[in-house]
Amino acid sequence: MNTHKNIAIFGSTGSIGTQALDVIRANTDKFTVEVLTGNDNVDLLIKQAIEFNPNTVVIADESKYLYVKQALQPYDIKVYAGNKSIAEVAKMDSIDMVIAAIVGYAGLESTLSAIEAGKQIALANKETLVVAGDLVTTLAKENGVNIYPVDSEHSAIFQCLAGEFHNPIEKIYLTASGGPFRGKNRDFLKDVKKEQALKHPNWEMGAKITIDSASLMNKGLEVIEAKWLFGLAVEQIDVIIHPQSIIHSIVQFTDGSMKAQMGLPDMKLPIQYAMSYPQRIKSDFSRFNFMNYPQLTFEPADTNTFRNLSLAYEALKKGGNSPCILNAANEIAVDAFLKDKIGFLQMGDLVEKCLQTIHFISKPGYEDYINTNKETRIVAAELISSSMLIKSI
Ligand code: NAD
Ligand code: MG
Repeated sequence: MNTHKNIAIFGSTGSIGTQALDVIRANTDKFTVEVLTGNDNVDLLIKQAIEFNPNTVVIADESKYLYVKQALQPYDIKVYAGNKSIAEVAKMDSIDMVIAAIVGYAGLESTLSAIEAGKQIALANKETLVVAGDLVTTLAKENGVNIYPVDSEHSAIFQCLAGEFHNPIEKIYLTASGGPFRGKNRDFLKDVKKEQALKHPNWEMGAKITIDSASLMNKGLEVIEAKWLFGLAVEQIDVIIHPQSIIHSIVQFTDGSMKAQMGLPDMKLPIQYAMSYPQRIKSDFSRFNFMNYPQLTFEPADTNTFRNLSLAYEALKKGGNSPCILNAANEIAVDAFLKDKIGFLQMGDLVEKCLQTIHFISKPGYEDYINTNKETRIVAAELISSSMLIKSI
């Protein structure tokens, strides 16, 4: 059986994208890079293109097109610009699998396009499922596309489910490290700065997901992601804080048996598993040593302090376009926090306000998601600039 795969990495210059390239570099007999895309880190994108010699490169920021085009002139590499081009390139015959590693709503269009074209998806871009989980999973079913989770918790669940296809899940436990502010109260959190929030104890990731991890919004987004990936009801998804990030998540079956997947925190493992499933590829990733972790600990999530997690559960329960509102408001909130325009707790206030005010649609289609996303961003930006956010305590 020919298992060699031609890979397109959407978001190759990011944390997930560069680690996917590490996996490919170590396994050139199994994977070839067909497409690379980036947003504005042009020098890294050019460097990656020269090393991996893909068929096509797309730079999302159109103002950087000429720079990339000129730098790659001596090479036999096609260069395009803009997010529409990423969605177009997704349909290339020569692509077997797309690694969806763009951050945020910006990754939705290209992921949908790749699914429509029947490409297998290794999904890192959780926001895609948060915004339009029903649409994405329905389209995937219609087109015979498997969505392989890259997110470590969802990869863990997926690994626990191997060989269990006919056995119903009773519930799942998504583990969370708790982030840099675990154990802190709201009085402390109201004054924290981005430099503190960007220091994740266990994982090195892009800025947006690192802030989401500090505010527990990341876990909220992952609850919604899990619902769609594994077809679960809200009540079947629990979150447990596990500060060591060794157990990556747990499945509980109807006989009470629980399966957990564990290992040192290293995103290359779930990335590689998504790319090589159902096979496992021998790796030299660091191995876990029990003696270095004599205690693995667990505690409940503090949803009074970290309200984002409750907001995500509420949005999921309400359904319709609520998770799309939650996501758009959160993207604006994180961006504003990173630009020192709002405080840490105001991120949650903004999301809550948008969930209360934006028009609810119970059965949204693609156009509704596009409009909801647009409208929420405008309203959220207005709320920030008019300082209408109550200072949160
Ligand atoms: P990142 O910020 O490091 O990288 C994002 C990538 O997307 C970059 O290549 C960037 O150029 C591209 N991009 C950004 N905005 C874009 C736009 N408007 N149009 C086109 N491309 C754009 O982020 P990351 O940490 O690699 O995360 C990527 C996705 O994977 C996120 O959805 C995140 O939640 C998810 N994820 C990441 C990790 C991790 O360890 N980093 C773990 C689990 C899930
Ligand atoms: Mg995760």
